[in-house]
Order: sequence, then C-alpha cells, then structure tokens
Amino acid sequence: MAETEFYPDWYEKVPPSKSFRSIFKWGYPDVFKHPNKRLYAMMKDAFAMTDADFAEKMNLGEEEVEFDIPSRLTEAQLDELRAIVGTENVHTDDFNRLRVAYGKMMYDLIRLREKIIENLPDAVVSPRDKEDIRALVKWCNQNRVPVTPYGGGSSVMRGPECPHGGISLDMRVYMNKIIRLNTINQTVTVQPGIMGRDYEAALNNAPEVFKTEERYSGGHFPQSFDSSCVGGWIVTRGAGQNSTYYGKIEDLVISQEYVTPVGDIVTKEYPAEAIGPDIDQLMMGSEGAFGILVEATLKIFKYRPENTRRFSYIFRDYA
Ligand SMILES: Cc1cc2nc3c(=O)[nH]c(=O)nc-3n(C[C@H](O)[C@H](O)[C@H](O)COP(=O)(O)OP(=O)(O)OC[C@H]3O[C@@H](n4cnc5c(N)ncnc54)[C@H](O)[C@@H]3O)c2cc1C
Repeated sequence: MAETEFYPDWYEKVPPSKSFRSIFKWGYPDVFKHPNKRLYAMMKDAFAMTDADFAEKMNLGEEEVEFDIPSRLTEAQLDELRAIVGTENVHTDDFNRLRVAYGKMMYDLIRLREKIIENLPDAVVSPRDKEDIRALVKWCNQNRVPVTPYGGGSSVMRGPECPHGGISLDMRVYMNKIIRLNTINQTVTVQPGIMGRDYEAALNNAPEVFKTEERYSGGHFPQSFDSSCVGGWIVTRGAGQNSTYYGKIEDLVISQEYVTPVGDIVTKEYPAEAIGPDIDQLMMGSEGAFGILVEATLKIFKYRPENTRRFSYIFRDYA
C-alpha cells in the first residue's frame, strides 16, 4: 500500500446557512476531520480508487434548500398547532422540513447530496415542555395526523422520516435541560433533547454548574456522540465505546416518562424491581413507536480525569 504525494484538498468551510450541506455535514459546523494520509492510502486500496477520484469536488450541497412540495396541513390546522406551542415554534418552510426528514447514514447523505427529497413532515414543531407534547399528541390523535420525534438526527434506521407526512417534533430546541442531579443516588434526570456533548460537559463540570463536590460522567460515548442526544440514545437502545465498562444505555437508565395518545407511562426511580414485565426495558428501543420520551433518569459515575489513561492497539492482520 504505497503512500502517494497527492493528498486531497478536503472541503473546510462552514456550510452556507440553510444549505443542503448544513444538513448533511457531520458534527459541529466549524469542526473538520479528514482521513490522514495513511487512511487515505488505505481507502484507495480497499475500494480500488485512484487519486483522480479525489481530485474534483462534486455535489457539495452549498445551494439553499428549495423545493415545491407544499405542506398538507390546512391553514386552520397550522393555526391550531400555533395556538398550542406558539407561532414561532411551528415551521413549514422548505429548509426546516428537510432538516429533520433524514438521519445520517450513507443513504441519507447521498440523497441530500443528490437533492432527492421525500418523506417530509408537513410541519416541524418545537415543543417547549411536557405539557406542549401532551397537547400535541392529543391533537395529532384527534386529527389523525402522524407525529414523529426528532432527536439529534443521527439515525441509521430511517426512524425520523415521515413517509405519511404529519408533524416532526424537534426535541432539541427547548427540551434540552438537566432537571436534577442527585449526588446521593448518583443519578441525573434530564430532558431527552440534551445533546451528548452538552450532557457530558455539564456532568464533567458539575462542581461549577451544580455546586457538587465531585465531577461526573454519563459513561455513554457512541460514535455519534456529537450528533445524538440522550433521548435518542435511550429510544434506540444505544451502545457506546466504553459500554463494556459502564454498560449499554439500557443498563444506565433508571426511570423514564413517555407521553402516548392513551396517557402517560411513568416508571419509578428504584434501583431494581421484583416484578415483570420490565416496562423500562420494553420502552427502550421503541424508536418513538410507543410514545414520546419526555424525561429520563440515568446513572452517573464519578469522573476522575487523573485516573484516566487512553491507549489503543493496532493489530498487524486478522490472523
Ligand atoms: C456515523 C454514525 C455512528 C453511529 N455510532 C453509533 C454508536 O456508536 N452506537 C449506537 O448505539 N448508535 C450509533 N449510531 C446510530 C445513532 O447515532 C443512534 O441510534 C443514536 O442513539 C440516535 O440518537 P439521535 O438523538 O440522533 O436520535 P434520532 O436519529 O433523532 O432518532 C432516532 C429514533 O428515535 C426516535 N426519537 C428521537 N427522540 C425521541 C423521543 N424523545 N421520544 C421517542 N422517540 C424519539 C426518532 O423518531 C427515531 O425513530 C451511529 C450513527 C451514525 C450515523
């Protein structure tokens, strides 16, 4: 696997506002990470590609999102939604509808680069609290309008897509707070839309943020950490790179609260139960099909950076 002199001129610009690229770019808009020279050589080798394949930039997606697919909700229906959450929290413009329509698997990225537009919600609604979600779920049920929650949007299962339209609930805008940190039980109660990095940063900085004596860690680090939120981790039954030590998300969650069309499902904060079936386990992995997760309590761990050592192994081959 010979290294070459040529090394691609990778794209390093903050995506233009409301562009296709601003939707499909991974992670934070101003953070860039590219294959190093050895990985570049390995990619060419593995996929039988040449330097010429990397010479020209294609389908950059810098154009502003624009299409001609009107919302199927009537103005009267939109007014009812606005009355529930406030006018500023209901969006029907092209960019906002496409922004929440796909996840971040390769198929999604290709569709966005090639401007293939499908499975859009008719409106994107940002609930401010549980009460908003209860009212929205009730309204959707009465009006037979589908409702699809949207967390960090890193899905690889096409869960955030809206094949029958309806409303997409953007959980990140308001429902992104830490509600309680309990140092005696070593638990934290959060709203579902808090993004992975914000969650971990708040726990690491607990003495400054919550006036605790100790620093904490959530212990959950999926590769999609920068583009996923705690609620998303729970409803997809996620795993992280340190899960062999801390446990998968279903080992970390202690209690949950869901809003459903037939009422709330609330589990209690016990360390263990001697009855079954285990409702917490039934709900985790439901991908939004059983209800909207509005609150969760999770285990946390003392964070001692001075005791942390990072290392990795490289194997010569698979033998
Ligand atoms: C490059 C890449 C790497 C990845 N690495 C990992 C990994 O290491 N480990 C891993 O487990 N997964 C991984 N994933 C998959 C994905 O990141 C996880 O499934 C993640 O937990 C999804 O969280 P999210 O916040 O992005 O959820 P979204 O993508 O926004 O939503 C996922 C599903 O959950 C539903 N949903 C979201 N919020 C709620 C809510 N509040 N209530 C009810 N339903 C809701 C949505 O409707 C959708 O069906 C990866 C994905 C990518 C693209």
